[in-house]
Amino acid sequence: TEGVAVPELAEMLAVSETEIIKNLFINRGIQANITQTLELETARLVAEDLGVQVETPEEKSAATKTEMLDTEDLDHLQFRPPVITIMGHVDHGKTSLLDSIRKTKVAAGEAGGITQRTGAYHVDVEHEGETRQVVFLDTPGHEAFTSMRARGAKVTDIAVLVVAADDGVQPQTQEAISHAKAAGVPIVVAINKMDKEGAQPDRVKQELTEHELVPEEWGGNTPMVGVSAITGENLDELLEMIILVAELEELSANPDRLAKGTVIEANLDRARGPVATLLVQNGTLHVGDVIVAGPCFGKIRAMIDDRGQKVEAASPSFAVEILGLGEVPRAGDEFAVYADEKQARAIASERTAEMRSSRLQRAASSRRVTLSNVS
Ligand code: GDP
Ligand code: MG
Repeated sequence: TEGVAVPELAEMLAVSETEIIKNLFINRGIQANITQTLELETARLVAEDLGVQVETPEEKSAATKTEMLDTEDLDHLQFRPPVITIMGHVDHGKTSLLDSIRKTKVAAGEAGGITQRTGAYHVDVEHEGETRQVVFLDTPGHEAFTSMRARGAKVTDIAVLVVAADDGVQPQTQEAISHAKAAGVPIVVAINKMDKEGAQPDRVKQELTEHELVPEEWGGNTPMVGVSAITGENLDELLEMIILVAELEELSANPDRLAKGTVIEANLDRARGPVATLLVQNGTLHVGDVIVAGPCFGKIRAMIDDRGQKVEAASPSFAVEILGLGEVPRAGDEFAVYADEKQARAIASERTAEMRSSRLQRAASSRRVTLSNVS
């Protein structure tokens, strides 16, 4: 049965795990522990107690399909590249696969071979004599995916589920499947490590059917491609599948407007100040643009693409690192460009004030819970 783990719910609601456990005990008489999985209905009630409205996945995907598009965009829509998230169990080859696709050496340079940051990479794919682009987000585990989605951001068009042919479906594989399904995102399966002695692709397919992912050759509708990140076997087929699935999704945006989109990651760089990776989901982003990202205001001083090159503009589905924000936004924050700098500053400071007061309110209400707990 579907459910939400206590730590996962805490992260979604941006409260401590203790606060969730307290709420369960005081308001519903449920004695929960931190490792427990709550039924969705219980999780919804807790969320609502804490002042967060909950949507079902269906409500969510209906709302987010068009979220980034306004009615005035409809006359200007153009095809945009698909944004892909690579998911799967640890060590099944997510980083190697992306690396191999990019034909560069990210995995070797990473500390301990573990993905250090959420990057976004652009790849050119030849398709029917045309060059198409695909954008890959490299997520550490499922964090970026789940916490961003929990905060209302939909950044992924297609999930590539990596399953090692010699290891099969594992706990994080199952998690990835349920996250992708909850988000209403189509799944393309990459059965990786086909070069290994112990590769058993049919066993992997069999295991996946138990999670309602049935390969096309067995009458289902989930594309599955056997690949090897090491030998490069079938990577072209995988990219081809992604392009075909993207075509069915009819992805579009209006490049002729002020940009908006989502913060993919952000941090404070000692030398450069706040640095944020932004995924442009509508419009075109330019150096010099006045921007509000979550509660943060800024004027874009420089933009850097995934190859470390300075760029002047970023069109829909492209991700760029930007410099010029006054503070560090959070992954999952939305950003928008404003024509009017004064208005942008006002919006940012209003949001900062709002965040401060809701944080105070939460602190106050959790204190009340503590008191009634004691008495
Ligand atoms: P991640 O945790 O999913 O990002 O997995 P990594 O990309 O870090 O890969 C984990 C390990 O599996 C590394 O030692 C890789 O060299 C190895 N690996 C990844 N893909 C393949 C593959 O296609 N074939 C073989 N033989 N090894 C692979
Ligand atoms: Mg990795």
